[in-house]
Amino acid sequence: MANNFYDFAGELRQLEQDNLYRSRRVVDGPQGIMLNVDGRQLINFCSNDYLGLANHAEVAAAFKAGVDRYGVGSGSAHLICGHSAAHHALEEELAAFTGRERALLFSTGYMANLGVISALLGRGDTVLEDRLNHASLLDGGLLSRARFQRYRHADCEDLQTKLAAANGKPLLVSDGVFSMDGDLPPLPAMVKLAEQHHAGLLIDDAHGFGVLGKNGGGVVEHFGLSQDDVPILMGTLGKAFGTFGAFVAGSEDLIEMLIQKTRSYVFTTALPAAVAEATRASLRVLQSESWRREQLQNLIGRFRKGAQQQGLQLMDSFTAIQPVLVGDSGQTVAASQRLLEQGFWVSAIRPPTVPAGAARLRITFSAHHTEPQVDALLEALARALP
Ligand SMILES: *Cc1c(COP(=O)(O)O)cnc(C)c1O
Repeated sequence: MANNFYDFAGELRQLEQDNLYRSRRVVDGPQGIMLNVDGRQLINFCSNDYLGLANHAEVAAAFKAGVDRYGVGSGSAHLICGHSAAHHALEEELAAFTGRERALLFSTGYMANLGVISALLGRGDTVLEDRLNHASLLDGGLLSRARFQRYRHADCEDLQTKLAAANGKPLLVSDGVFSMDGDLPPLPAMVKLAEQHHAGLLIDDAHGFGVLGKNGGGVVEHFGLSQDDVPILMGTLGKAFGTFGAFVAGSEDLIEMLIQKTRSYVFTTALPAAVAEATRASLRVLQSESWRREQLQNLIGRFRKGAQQQGLQLMDSFTAIQPVLVGDSGQTVAASQRLLEQGFWVSAIRPPTVPAGAARLRITFSAHHTEPQVDALLEALARALP
């Protein structure tokens, strides 16, 4: 008898019919504003390289020097023999930069979130998550076996009700900048709620770190929040930092606890030391070249002004993530296709990444975009949208 386990064709056809089929485009060359795709040059408005550091000369040079000093592979997990002087120095620099006692490197942000939540909670506890949290935070909550509670997006009233009814140890978990909407949670009010209810607070600042705050300290710098306010701060290094990896910052005891108990830390190979060296360079560049954050804000402001004049449906965001709401998945894919024909690469974001009926174009900006490129994008959007 034929083994029908491998009969995927029907499901794939269904995804295609629902306009939910995902596919990849092959990019030849480094990340930047112009991407070479199938022999065509496209203007890139979909990357998370917000500060233009992914191919920065100093960052690339530090990476190469790192390979000369440390080789390529890290050889093992951090707890065996893979924890190099480069990793250690980066952790100390990230702790100083974030104003936290310690920082702990992870190989990816997905793994950090999965591991940290499941290390800190267990059966009988409660995890409270914003409905629009990143998949890795939701998955971490599910993996922890704690009671899983989602509260309405950025809604402190709903959060308070659910906190009051929480069992065991409660942990409040939120994106610092929502990855598909670009807005911020009401963090100062959440800090108060967490304190009142003796709940832990984990903020994932993947999209704010490096970008928000005068010094690039992210959403906690934006709101002026210390380690006491936000005791568990997570950031990623593959977005504004332009490299790869992630970290969690907090108290000495928190970090020591995570080193002991986080399975996605203990049971995985340390990221290459040369990547840590590259990240040390991007941390230096990001602090010394504040023009990158200023230019980014300038471009975002220019885009929003133009988009409002055109009557585009923007979201409540002042960050580098500027979605244009379309609604229908098919229309969103078609608009993205029409932008592509005009030479602009903008991603169509559909369910299940966003709620049903809330498909959108997710436009992201980089400090390396120019004003004429933003204006040209606005013109292209006018032609591309239904
Ligand atoms: C990208 C992202 C992650 C995952 O980080 P990686 O290092 O890419 O695995 C986690 N949380 C949020 C909010 C993100 O946007």
